[in-house]
Amino acid sequence: MRRALLVLMGLAYAAGPLAAQRKPARVPAPSAVLGFVPGTDRKLTDWEPIVAYFRALEAASDRVVVHEIGHTTGGAPFIVVFISSRANLARLHALGDIQRRLADPRLVPDSAAAERLIRRGKVFALVTSDIHSTEVGGSLSPLDIAYRLASDASPEVAAILSNTVVMLVPSLNPDGVSIVAHWYAQTLGTNAEGTSPPELYNRYTGHDDNRDWYAFTQVETRLVVDSLYDVWHPQVTLDLHQQGTSGSRIFIPPYLDPIEPNVDPLLVQGDNALGLAMAWRLTAEGFSGVAVNSLYDAWSPSRAFQHYHGAARILTETASARLASPVTVPFDSLREGEGVDPRAASWNFVTPWPGGAWTIGDIVRYQTASTMAFLDQVSHNRARWMRDARAVAARAVHGWPGWPYAFVIPSAGQNPVAVATLLEIFRHAQVEVRAALAPFTLGHEHFFPGTYVVPLRQPYAAFAKAMLERQVYPDLRQYPGGPPRRPYDVTAETLPLLLGVRVLAVADTLPIALSAPVAASPPVYHLANVTAGDAKPGAVRTAVYRSFVPAPDEGWTRWVFDTWGVSYESVGDSAIRAGDLGARFDALILPSQDPRAILSGLPAGTYPARYAGGLGAPGAQALAAFVDSGGTLIALNEACDFAIGALDLPVTDVLDELAPTDFYAPGSLLRLQLDPGDPLTAGVPAQTAAWFESGPAFDVADPSRVRVAARFPTDPADVLLSGWLLGAPRLAGKAALLEVRRGRGRVILFGFRPQYRGQSLATLPLLFNALQSAQR
Ligand SMILES: [Zn+2]
Repeated sequence: MRRALLVLMGLAYAAGPLAAQRKPARVPAPSAVLGFVPGTDRKLTDWEPIVAYFRALEAASDRVVVHEIGHTTGGAPFIVVFISSRANLARLHALGDIQRRLADPRLVPDSAAAERLIRRGKVFALVTSDIHSTEVGGSLSPLDIAYRLASDASPEVAAILSNTVVMLVPSLNPDGVSIVAHWYAQTLGTNAEGTSPPELYNRYTGHDDNRDWYAFTQVETRLVVDSLYDVWHPQVTLDLHQQGTSGSRIFIPPYLDPIEPNVDPLLVQGDNALGLAMAWRLTAEGFSGVAVNSLYDAWSPSRAFQHYHGAARILTETASARLASPVTVPFDSLREGEGVDPRAASWNFVTPWPGGAWTIGDIVRYQTASTMAFLDQVSHNRARWMRDARAVAARAVHGWPGWPYAFVIPSAGQNPVAVATLLEIFRHAQVEVRAALAPFTLGHEHFFPGTYVVPLRQPYAAFAKAMLERQVYPDLRQYPGGPPRRPYDVTAETLPLLLGVRVLAVADTLPIALSAPVAASPPVYHLANVTAGDAKPGAVRTAVYRSFVPAPDEGWTRWVFDTWGVSYESVGDSAIRAGDLGARFDALILPSQDPRAILSGLPAGTYPARYAGGLGAPGAQALAAFVDSGGTLIALNEACDFAIGALDLPVTDVLDELAPTDFYAPGSLLRLQLDPGDPLTAGVPAQTAAWFESGPAFDVADPSRVRVAARFPTDPADVLLSGWLLGAPRLAGKAALLEVRRGRGRVILFGFRPQYRGQSLATLPLLFNALQSAQR
C-alpha cells in the first residue's frame, strides 16, 4: 500500500526529491495523542504524552526517527527526534560520518575533498526547547513543528527535509514539563492559576539549568553534549525560550554587544544573517512585535556551547502569558528594555505590536513560525552553513594570530580532584589534552614528563581559551559616567580560578613532543579529597533551608552535597517556625536568596496557605534560639543580610543599598585573602578566588564577638581577578567570611558563593570546614 501511494504521489511532486514524493499515511496530529490542539487556552501536558506523540509520529511517518539517549535526573526518558527525508534517514550514519570528518579538518585537510563531502552531506540543525519549564510554549510548539515537517507536502518542507537533518529535542528538561503541568492542573481555577510552582523545576538547578553548558555538572547537559553535539556536530542551532509579557513579542538575534571575544567572527555573522532572515520572513507573514538586537548579549559561554563548537546559535524569546492562561497587555503597559522600546518602531523593531490579548496560542504560533523560518533559511543555504562550520574549525586548527600556543597545567602542587575536574570538562567539550613526553623548562620552572598540555591548535580551541583565560568585561555605561549597562548574565568563567588550578599560557611552540590526546580518569568526589585532616562534615546533623520561593542556590547546595556525600535534610518554613531546631540539627544552612523572599515567602492571597508566608518573625526567632542554644547557622551570600537582621548581628553590609554607579559586580571572580590560622580556612591556600554576585561585604561593629576568616585585598587594584567590577574601593579590605558568636552558638557569614553552580571547587572546602566546625 505504501508503494502504491508512492507512485500516485510521485505524479503530483515530480520535481521533488524521492523522499518527499511519498505522502505519509495518516500522520497523527498532536491532538490525536494529547486530546487538545497545542496552544489551546488553559491546556498543558506532562512529559509522557509528549513522548507518546513522537513515538506515534515515528510509527506513522518515514520522515521521523526517535532516539532515546538516556534518562533525566528524575528518571524520565530523554529523547531526540531526527526529522529528515526518508533517503537521508536511511543513510543517517553515513551523513554523521561526513559531519565528523568535516568537524575536524585534520582528518580531511584537502579542501577539494572537503567540498566533495559537503556535496554529499546535509546540514544538521539542532532545535532545542523547553529548558525553562515555565516557558510552557516550549513544551507544545515542538509537537506542531514536528507534525508540520512530518505531514506537510509543500515544496518548502520538501526542501527542508532534503537539505537538512533536523534534530529536535522537544524538552531539555523533561522533569520540569511534568512539574509545571501538575502544578498548573492543580491550581487551575484558583488564585494561583498561572503562577510558577513552589519548587525548582529541575531537581538541582531550576532556572540555572541553561547555565551549565561549560561545567557539564548535570545529567541533562551531559546527554546533550555527549550524545548530540559531540556525535553529530550540528552547524546551526535554535533554542526556544520565553521572556516576560511586557516587552517585544519575540526576540531574535543579532545579539547585543558584547560578544565574547573568542567566538569566531563567522559564527557571529552567521547568527546575524540567520536571525535577520527569520525576522524578515516573520514580518512578511504579518507577525508584529519582532525585535532583533535587544536585551540578549552573547558574552557568557554558560549558555552558548555552540559558539565554541562551530555552530551558529539562534535564541528566540517569545513573550509569555501566565503559563497557559491568557493575559491582556494594553499597549501603554508595554515597557522599554535594553535596545528596544516596544511602543516605538525602530530599525530593529519595525512593526510594534498593538497590545491586547496574549495567549498560549500566540506563543505557539510565534514559536512555530520562527522555527520554520529558521529551517527554511538553513535549508536554502545548506552548503554555505557546512562550509562555514568547516572554515571555523580550520582556522582553529591552524591557530589564531596572537593566541597562545598552548596552556600548560603543571602537575606539582595541584589538587588532583580539581585537575581531574578540569580534564573531565574538556572531555565533554571535546577539547584535546596532551601530555609532555619529555621534561621541559619554561622560565625558571621545570616540568616533568606527563605534564598536561592544552594546545590551542585544535577544532575547539576557542572553548579551551575562553575557559582558561581571565575575562576582561568592557566598561559599558548607559551614558558616559552613568550607570552600568547590565550584562544579560554573569561576566566571568575562568575555570582555573573557579577550580583552584594553576595554568600557564605559553606563547610559543613547546620544545618537546606531545602525546596523543590523553583519556584521564574522571574525578572522584569524596570529602577526604578536599577537607583538611580528619574533617567529617558528614557526621554533622545538617539542615538546608528550602524556601517555597525556588532558589537555584539551594538546589546547587543539594547537588554539591549529594555529589560529595554530605548527608543533610531539607527543611522548610513550617519546620523552622516550629522551633526546637537544636534537638534535630547541629548546623543549618541558608542558601543564597533574596532576604525578602526568605522572610515573607510567597504571597498569601495568591498561593495556597501552606506555601505562603516565608519564615516570618516566628522563623527568625526560631533561628535565633537555635544559635543561642549552641547551633551553627551558615548564611550564604544574599542570605547574609537576612541573618544579620533576624539575629541582630554586630556586622553591617557595606554594600547594602549602594547605587550601581557606586558599586557593581554582576558575577565576577574576586581575590580573597584568608587568615591561614583560622579553622574555617584549613586546607585552602592563603589567597584564593571567590565567586561574587549580589553578595555583601562586611564591617565589624563588635570585634569581641566576631572572627574574620577572609577579607578582600586592601589595595582596590588587587580585588578583581576576572569579569567586571565597578567600585572596587568599596570592597577593599572588607571582611568576606566571618564567624559571629551569639549565645552558645555561632553564625558564619559567607559574602560570596562558596559552591557556585557546582563549579567553585576552590572555595568549596570553606563550606565543608564551616559544617565541620558545627560538630558538637
Ligand atoms: Zn528561558
